[in-house]
Amino acid sequence: MHELSMADAIVKTVIESAEKNDAIEVQEVTVEIGQMTMLNPEQIMFMVEILSEDTILKGAKFNMEEIPIEIKCESCNFEGKIDFEGIDHYAPIINCPACEGRELSITAGRECNVKNIKIEQREEDAQDS
Ligand SMILES: [Zn+2]
Repeated sequence: MHELSMADAIVKTVIESAEKNDAIEVQEVTVEIGQMTMLNPEQIMFMVEILSEDTILKGAKFNMEEIPIEIKCESCNFEGKIDFEGIDHYAPIINCPACEGRELSITAGRECNVKNIKIEQREEDAQDS
């Protein structure tokens, strides 16, 4: 997935949710990005800021949480986090750290979603005109 389309999706998700909840302001957004997605959180943050211009999101604080890759090995049943350092960004090949096997299930690290949105809601009796 490309950073721009991801940033676009994040902005749309947050705006949709903010509108659904009668938000007058979005204060904080937390986004989870799995390392398996190969997305660059800094680039996403930068693009989100650009896309937020002239929307309810302008001025909101964005937190990017990187989710480490976790695997389960089918050969030796190793379960755990994979050190991302040294994995080729463009052709991720992951071996089991215990047995070098490649029959792996990826149990975490594919996340790419809006985890939490903090908004300021309109008060029932004190509506701005
Ligand atoms: Zn293994």
